[in-house]
Amino acid sequence: MTPVLDLDRVTRIHPGPPAVTALADATLRVGRGEYVAVVGPSGSGKSTLLNLLGLLDRPTSGVYRLDGIDVAGLGERDRTALRGGRIGFVFQSFHLLPHRTATENVMLAQVYNGAPRGGRRAAALAALERVGVGHRAHALPTTMSGGERQRVAIARALVNEPAILLCDEPTGNLDSATSQRLLSLFDELHAAGLTIVVITHDGAVASRAQRLVRIVDGRITP
Ligand code: ADP
Ligand code: MG
Repeated sequence: MTPVLDLDRVTRIHPGPPAVTALADATLRVGRGEYVAVVGPSGSGKSTLLNLLGLLDRPTSGVYRLDGIDVAGLGERDRTALRGGRIGFVFQSFHLLPHRTATENVMLAQVYNGAPRGGRRAAALAALERVGVGHRAHALPTTMSGGERQRVAIARALVNEPAILLCDEPTGNLDSATSQRLLSLFDELHAAGLTIVVITHDGAVASRAQRLVRIVDGRITP
């Protein structure tokens, strides 16, 4: 079966100066419905890997196929469409707009994805409820705790019902009860067929995944 995510000997060099080889010769295949945790020390290339998988960055060399499509030949517009239709991305630093409410932040993902206008607000509220921040729907990110902002970012990633969820340290700012709840949600999403790749320092997250990928100094280690 065609892997959903297929990195074939991918290297990413940030030009600098000084140039940094953030990812070196990485080969990784993730099958449909797999739940993969990526672990490794700070600066080892985890975010670089996720950004490549999420079409937010391009390889310096090597091939990346998403759902069998070699994305190197695609222009920005096609990449954006592919990303919006298939991928939910949770950034390490959330990237929420500070002067928009939680609901508006989630709705923006639908706007970019061309979801019908009529259903957006209800879908955004449902996504916020699902991650346990429905009561903060009208709040601005600037008035929220780190954990609440993180959950809004997760709601935004889920609202378009992506087939693939990519998360950079999703439990980094959560207390253990909230983190447990989030892990149950990931289990549920995984059971429903979502493909999940999650970067984590958290042993509780890593132990829930089906597979561990370790990165050290930009290299995926066996
Ligand atoms: P991790 O997420 O594991 O902490 P990153 O992927 O963020 O690691 O970074 C890997 C390496 O690439 C680090 O040395 C980092 O400083 C460097 N790096 C990341 N992004 C950039 C960038 N945009 N420009 C230059 N260097 C970068
Ligand atoms: Mg990182």
